[in-house]
Amino acid sequence: YHAKLERDRISMYSPKFDVNTVERLRLLSELRAALDARQLHVVYQPQVDLKNGRTVGVEALVRWRHPVRGLVVPDEFIPLAENSGLIFPLTDFVLDTALGQLAIWRAQGYEVRMAVNLSARHLSDLGLPDQVADIAARHNVPLSSLVLEVTETAILSDPIRADAVIKTLRGLGVEISIDDYGTGNASLSYLKRLEIDELKIDRSFVSNIRIDDHDLIIVKSTIGLALALGLRVVAEGIEDGPTTAALRELGGVLGQGYHLGRPGPPEQIGARLADEHRAGARAKAASE
Ligand code: C2E
Ligand code: MG
Ligand code: MG
Ligand code: MG
Repeated sequence: YHAKLERDRISMYSPKFDVNTVERLRLLSELRAALDARQLHVVYQPQVDLKNGRTVGVEALVRWRHPVRGLVVPDEFIPLAENSGLIFPLTDFVLDTALGQLAIWRAQGYEVRMAVNLSARHLSDLGLPDQVADIAARHNVPLSSLVLEVTETAILSDPIRADAVIKTLRGLGVEISIDDYGTGNASLSYLKRLEIDELKIDRSFVSNIRIDDHDLIIVKSTIGLALALGLRVVAEGIEDGPTTAALRELGGVLGQGYHLGRPGPPEQIGARLADEHRAGARAKAASE
């Protein structure tokens, strides 16, 4: 079954494959070298509780600063890494870096969740849960503060194994989030049967809610349904104040987007957490 899928995929892409093949192979070998040379790094984007503005989590996003090409975006190299198997050491690097950073923030008193993206191939890797547990243990952070983001498409590419991997991860206390929700083919009832913790509503719905009534209806009813099923909901791609306000009014939803905070280096996110911490302490003192 897998061999067939691979075959179909290759034949599907073959017209473009020839044209780009040299360039892609070059980028791939550079990516392999970059991983070894630690040319990759991780930035963090805040996930904000809209009712009080507090940062309750961050999403780890990988970056590649190429010595010649400059910054290469993940959409360009993640697919390459997925097709080559390089995604496994890459994800190890991101998990290790992100959980190491989480340990630092936790030691400073900031109790945020850390979200890390997984690729489809991890969901058919039955060894993943043990590996994740090892990395968390190495940094002495609880698995309950880790959120792993997966897409509907990734789950549906090998649903039986994905189900097993997700169950084992959740058994360890890891939370599972469905990224880009609404762009794949999974129904909410299917996802509920899988037992997940969080839905991230794709930014293609979120970014237009102020101008498109249909998007607003979709977002509003998805939030309602997800909350009723006991899931946490994150709206991604919030780019302006009015959209933030509209979502705040809907209630019960966390937000992520350029308006609330761009992905940034650990020092920048650390400074933000420190500011919020101080403001929180002041508010508490004032109310006593
Ligand atoms: P994603 O997981 O859905 O991550 C959100 C993407 O949206 C990020 O792009 C983020 O910078 C961008 N974004 C955040 N707020 C806004 C906004 O208000 N407007 C717009 N237009 N964009 C916003 P980024 O970092 O380029 O990553 C793109 C995708 O690459 C990610 O989408 C994820 O699927 C993948 N990716 C990133 N890092 C990793 C990683 O470490 N491992 C894996 N497997 N995939 C990753
Ligand atoms: Mg994500
Ligand atoms: Mg997303
Ligand atoms: Mg996305």
